[in-house]
Amino acid sequence: MRMVFVFFLLLCSSLAQAATLRVECPQSIGIGLPFVVQVQSDQPLEGVQVTWQDKTLFVPGYNSTSLEFLLGTDVLKSKVGSHQLGVTRLGAAPLSVDSTIQVVQRKFPEQRLTVSQDMVTPPAQVLERIKQENALARKILGSTTPDNHLVLPLIRPVPGIVTSAYGLTRFFNDQPRNPHRGLDLRAALGDPILAAAPGQVVLAAEHYYAGRCVFLDHGLGVHTQYMHMDEVLVQDGEMVEAGQVIGRVGKTGRVTAPHLHLGMTILDLAVDPSPLFPQAVQ
Ligand SMILES: [Zn+2]
Repeated sequence: MRMVFVFFLLLCSSLAQAATLRVECPQSIGIGLPFVVQVQSDQPLEGVQVTWQDKTLFVPGYNSTSLEFLLGTDVLKSKVGSHQLGVTRLGAAPLSVDSTIQVVQRKFPEQRLTVSQDMVTPPAQVLERIKQENALARKILGSTTPDNHLVLPLIRPVPGIVTSAYGLTRFFNDQPRNPHRGLDLRAALGDPILAAAPGQVVLAAEHYYAGRCVFLDHGLGVHTQYMHMDEVLVQDGEMVEAGQVIGRVGKTGRVTAPHLHLGMTILDLAVDPSPLFPQAVQ
């Protein structure tokens, strides 16, 4: 009798799982932190359409019944409070699940830096250049590609400690500026910079603020950016392996000394990459 009852329960739970789409995500996340979303489906997934922070992402399913991807929020662009995450199964049996994620405040220290006055208030003749470079960065970082190259944990691009953490409230020459939306890693001029994960080079250029820089596309809206390089050793369009040397540490752009600025964006939201390293990067 007991066996029959257990069997009945199992049957019920399998029936209850018919036509289901389960979305696992954190209920609450600190602002600026990346997080993993897992999707489980009772049917093979052609793909899912994800909506998050007014952005859309297509994640291919490759006929698997589960998939996962990274999302995050941005200390500058996102707001504290409730946000809706929408996941829609595409194909013959479409199904949508909405989840609510609370984005909560984190406390970030202040940082006061003295830099060349040109870098605080750029001269009029470079404003157009800065505007164009920003537009190009937004276009590249806002684009999503369906092949997931990302491998976690990330590889440290340089072994040095974090000298400026993500989220620092910044003052340049006592003038308030945007918070720091990446990690500054200690390194010496000429040190090799390694790709944090496999990906495709989508920008290898010299920009006013970023200096010589490389952007990698890891797929599904995830990009890493390496800034202030002395030398860039890869070309636009090239595929790179995790740990491949992509450039050398420098002090080009808006900097006070040689270091590597590592940025990570997910759907063009600048997130804190530090939780994605094997040990929290200190
Ligand atoms: Zn930086």
